[in-house]
This record gives sequence, structure tokens and C-alpha cells, in this order.
Amino acid sequence: MSEAAPRRCGYVALVGAPNAGKSTLLNQLVGAKLSIVSPKVQTTRSRVLGIVVEDAAQLVFVDTPGIFAPKRRLERAMVAAAWAGAEDADFVVVLVDAARGVDADAERIIAGLKSAGRRAVLVLNKVDLVDPPRLLPLADRLRKEALFDAVFMVSALTGDGVADLRRHLAAALPEGPWLYPEDQLTDLPMRLLAAEVTREQVFLQLQQELPYATLVETETWEERADGSIKIGQAIHVQRASQKAIMLGKGGSRVKEIGARARAELEHTLGRRVHLFLFVRVTEDWTEDRERYRAMGLEFES
Ligand code: GDP
Ligand code: MG
Repeated sequence: MSEAAPRRCGYVALVGAPNAGKSTLLNQLVGAKLSIVSPKVQTTRSRVLGIVVEDAAQLVFVDTPGIFAPKRRLERAMVAAAWAGAEDADFVVVLVDAARGVDADAERIIAGLKSAGRRAVLVLNKVDLVDPPRLLPLADRLRKEALFDAVFMVSALTGDGVADLRRHLAAALPEGPWLYPEDQLTDLPMRLLAAEVTREQVFLQLQQELPYATLVETETWEERADGSIKIGQAIHVQRASQKAIMLGKGGSRVKEIGARARAELEHTLGRRVHLFLFVRVTEDWTEDRERYRAMGLEFES
């Protein structure tokens, strides 16, 4: 038998503008749905780890909230979490939506990384939406930034090019012992993961501002003798009018959110799930220090 390759391990931060496809890419890189995805910007609120082993390397991917110009406290905390994710990582992967090109948010990220003296890997994502001839000028323009050591063109949605990217990163990680057990997928507690599944349905099923006013918390978690799990969650909104929309006519909206979240949870947990959702008006949850800590965010950002 040949000698085993030395073990490698490291953190790889995925950064980019809102909607560039960071969470979709994280899920594709680890082969599991860990980070929630929606067509709306700012779906991801905090740092999500996705852990995967490639040959002798353990890759710890860090999905981050998008980097944009924040205004409100929650937004500031999200952007701070994104930059912190990049600072702590061994590698930074910058995602650019190839269909969108380099917008003001992407410019800000590139400038920020350069001034921090970082190097990065560029991923042009969503190549399934763009004609190949249009990709080359974009890649050339970004190569001139003198920030990127390598450029990959992928579709996080179809998985095209993702295995190549993973192999490249695995080979480039520093040698060192693995930081997580071999079969661990994430560091998110199950209660938080379960809350995220419901929050994803809120983003997918409700319009405009309401998802941004919403916080989901798992309040109870009861493993039953028959192997099923009973989960109770609160959906916090900020106003009574929002509660009415969340409930829907005769409770139909929250029922639909619960039905889809429950199906997804049963799939993820491999167990029967009883999910109970309660919609509460909690006016000032975006000003609650404890809740930021529970989300893994810094209140004073
Ligand atoms: P994030 O905000 O950067 O985490 O972006 P998400 O992963 O939440 O994705 C934002 C939207 O872009 C979702 O509707 C995704 O389905 C979509 N998306 C992500 N990657 C791709 C891709 O490679 N191709 C296409 N067509 N859509 C994608
Ligand atoms: Mg995201």
C-alpha cells in the first residue's frame, strides 16, 4: 500500500453580493441542503458551516450573508458577519453572478479584500444563464484586479464545474489535522437548522418586506417514544397587520408554510415530524441583543 497523503484542513469563506448564489454553492459543494436559498436578497442572515471531505482534505465552507451597503442594525450585523467569515478563513472564494456582472456590491467586496491584503479564488456563477462568449470579457476584466489566484466558471444550480472547484481548494488547503469528526456536516444545532427550514418557506411564500420582518425560533423539541419528533416554533413578526398576512385566510398561509417545512424536515431528519407553528407579534425583535446572539450575530456591529 502506498503511504497515505498527509491530511489537510481549512476554512473556505464564500463571499459575494446578495443573490450571487453563495448558499446554493455551499449546498452543492457539500451535497446537502444546509443553507437556505430563495430568489430574494438577504436570505442568509448568519454564518453557516458546511463540512465535506475530499480525498485527504477536510474542507470547511463558510456561507456568509451577502456584502452590501447596510442601513439597519440587522443588516449591519449581517454584513459584519460576512466580513468576519472572510477574515477568519484560510481561503476566500468570491462569487460573482455572471449574468449580472460586476455591480457596486461586487466592487466593494473586491476593494475590501484588496485593502486587507487578501488573495482569493474567483467563481463566476450562474454560467447556465450566460452565453459563453459573454463570460470571457468578464473573466478578463476581473483577472486584472490582481486579487484572484484562480478563476472558475460554475453553475451552483446544476452543479456544473463545482467538483473542479472543490478539488482545487482541497489540494490548496494547508496540511493539518481535521477539525471536525469525519461525518459531521455542519456546526448548526438542529433547533436552528429546523428554524431555518421554516424561515426559507417564509421567504419563498411571502412577498416584499414581510420576510425581512420575520424571525423564526424553535421553542420546543420533543423526541417521542415512537421515533417521531414534535417541534414547536414561533414565527415572530413586527406588527399585527403582518401577523394577519402570515396567518392568511382562515390560517391557510401558515398552514402551507408548516406543511412544506414539515416535509423538508422529515427529509432532512429522516424521521416523522409534527410541526407546530405559532405566529407572534414581537415588535422589537431586531433590537433584542439575546436574539442576535442566538443567530450567531454581533449586536453592536
Ligand atoms: P445568496 O444570496 O448568494 O446566498 O444566493 P442564493 O444561493 O440564495 O441564490 C439566489 C438565487 O439565485 C436563488 O433563486 C437561486 O436558485 C439562484 N441561483 C443560485 N445559483 C444559480 C445558478 O448557478 N444558476 C441559476 N440559474 N440560478 C442560481
Ligand atoms: Mg445565502
